Amino acid sequence: MKALVMESPRNAVIKDVPYPHPGPNEITIQVKRCGICGTDLHIYQGTFMPKYPLIPGHEFAGVVSKTGAHVTKFKIGDRVAVDPSLFCGKCDYCLSGRGNHCVEWGAIGDTVNGAMAEYVKVPEAVAFHMPDGMPFAEGAFIEPIACVVHGMNQLQLRVGQSVLLFGAGSMGQLLIQSLSHAGAGELAVVDVSDNKLEMARKNGATHTFLSSEISSKLNNRKKYAGFDAVIDATGIPQVIQAQLQYLAPSGTHLQFGVAPQDARISVSPFDIYHMDWKLVGSMAVNHTFKPAMDWMAAGRFKTAPLISKQIQLDEVPAFFAQGKAADIMKVQISFE
Ligand SMILES: [Zn+2]
Ligand SMILES: [Zn+2]
Repeated sequence: MKALVMESPRNAVIKDVPYPHPGPNEITIQVKRCGICGTDLHIYQGTFMPKYPLIPGHEFAGVVSKTGAHVTKFKIGDRVAVDPSLFCGKCDYCLSGRGNHCVEWGAIGDTVNGAMAEYVKVPEAVAFHMPDGMPFAEGAFIEPIACVVHGMNQLQLRVGQSVLLFGAGSMGQLLIQSLSHAGAGELAVVDVSDNKLEMARKNGATHTFLSSEISSKLNNRKKYAGFDAVIDATGIPQVIQAQLQYLAPSGTHLQFGVAPQDARISVSPFDIYHMDWKLVGSMAVNHTFKPAMDWMAAGRFKTAPLISKQIQLDEVPAFFAQGKAADIMKVQISFE
């Protein structure tokens, strides 16, 4: 079968690899759609440090092509989406609802081969039946939405609270939709792209600002006039550093974007104390795939407009090499 293999950093090639036969408790899926994520770009650039060679791809949906001997939940031809999380199920973190901190944490497309290939094998336990009528393009969005569900659980937004979000890429747009459904009051969004801000307004932002305007337009929204929640969906250290000044007393800062591992920002411990701030993280998916699928199946998300481009597997190495333009949101690989 054909697969995209990351041989080493900045070296992605399309090649023939053996069909992944399922183990007793595994299924092999014929991939129909696979989203490309910022993490995949980090793996390509060598800043995420997986074991090479690796077939990436963790946002995907497809059809069951073969089932292992002990599989009971699926049959050949079933349409499935997959939670890429690989938790051991036995450690203290797994046993206390914190599988995303499993001591043996792994993920399909990060620590084992993923779905940028014609076929991928996965444990039966992490696959989910897709509802009839859900397109594969939506199935491949459940994983990013599962990350958003974890972020929302971490944020603990209360109805009517004001929110300031930095970053209106595809994750930002999913956050905007979630925050709107979850009862956000004022929802201000900042980005460098006019197109993304226009999409943000369609998805529920109450006002939007270009990054270049915020020092003038948000100057009167600091500290006591600040926001109940400030969310980073950029992962850019300078942006994160600058956004804390807009956090109101007893406000929550949610670090949703993935910053470089060695980046540092400075924050005043006195401010954290005096302002009653909560600084909160959100690591990947934490038993949130099922609620994400239910949320999606109920028609709460508009994901089709977030797909900037569909490409074929053969085009992916060139896409990685050239990097992502500022206006591009989600890119999906189509095998349909
Ligand atoms: Zn991802
Ligand atoms: Zn564990």
